[in-house]
Amino acid sequence: MSPDQHTFEDPSKKYSDIDTTAQSQGGPGLDADLVQKADRGEKSYRGAGRLEGRKALITGADSGIGAAVAIAFAREGADIALSYLPEEEEDAQGVVALIQEAGRTAVAIPGDLTDVNYCRELVERSVTELGGLDILINNAGKQQHVEDLLDLSDEQFDETFKTNVYAMFWVTKAALKHMGPGSTIINTSSIQAYQPSENLVDYATTKASINTFSKALAQQLAPKGIRVNVVAPGPIWTPLQTAGGQPTEALPDFGEDTPLGRPGQPAELAPAYVFLASGESSYVSGETLHVNGGMPTP
Ligand code: NAD
Ligand code: MG
Repeated sequence: MSPDQHTFEDPSKKYSDIDTTAQSQGGPGLDADLVQKADRGEKSYRGAGRLEGRKALITGADSGIGAAVAIAFAREGADIALSYLPEEEEDAQGVVALIQEAGRTAVAIPGDLTDVNYCRELVERSVTELGGLDILINNAGKQQHVEDLLDLSDEQFDETFKTNVYAMFWVTKAALKHMGPGSTIINTSSIQAYQPSENLVDYATTKASINTFSKALAQQLAPKGIRVNVVAPGPIWTPLQTAGGQPTEALPDFGEDTPLGRPGQPAELAPAYVFLASGESSYVSGETLHVNGGMPTP
């Protein structure tokens, strides 16, 4: 059998063939343009019916972590609505094809999450075309490094908060009208909420907000039978990092300072989302699952 997420192997030696050399992309960046391709589980993720018949909306589902989650969810039996920016159509269509290959429905809904009207339409179209909604993954994110606070523009500060925090609020608020008991919400935070980098002030601040939002909402929704959890990735090889998330010259060493000594791949995140979305985690809410190569967090 070919290797999959259950294969017994040394995690410190895994992916030694993927080298994060210096490179840079404009706009939101594309998986298609990564010089060393990321592993999103295309060849390795093996489903086992853990999300059979579920209906999931995933933001940032075109690439990186969101793409890996979409591929895994489809192989676990879920139908999926994908949110992404219009300029990411190429990546999105690749993920749509993989969802369809898994025999599931894919609904592609491009748009800009900093626009509240798109956030509302995204949810309404997802519900209509999937026939309901029981998993929401707020995963889209904006990360642009700026070395000096004096150079951090008001526009960037605003966009980072709109993308990472406001969109989560707008989408969740619209989605809750349609989500019943048993539904789950998973928000993507970051190691940056715990170990903020000096050049990611705006981004790190939004990730701490996502944590607190999630813990507060988890308590509010528990009596309604809806669970809210967080996944906090460490350094993961995605276009976010090559499209301004890190200084280009920092990429060759990306992730090497983690205890496992390497960056993570999007495929290594997907099982955490599957666990938190499925009934396997029925007594887990308000929790953060760290997938960060072993970095200690408070
Ligand atoms: P990615 O670039 O593949 O995904 C981010 C996605 O966000 C993009 O594909 C895009 O579709 C979406 N997005 C950004 N701005 C948007 C907007 N205005 N409207 C609609 N969609 C928009 O990178 P990724 O690393 O997979 O990021 C996914 C999540 O993981 C983000 O929340 C990111 O902060 C988080 N994260 C990533 C890392 C890492 O090292 N890569 C570490 C910790 C947390
Ligand atoms: Mg993308």
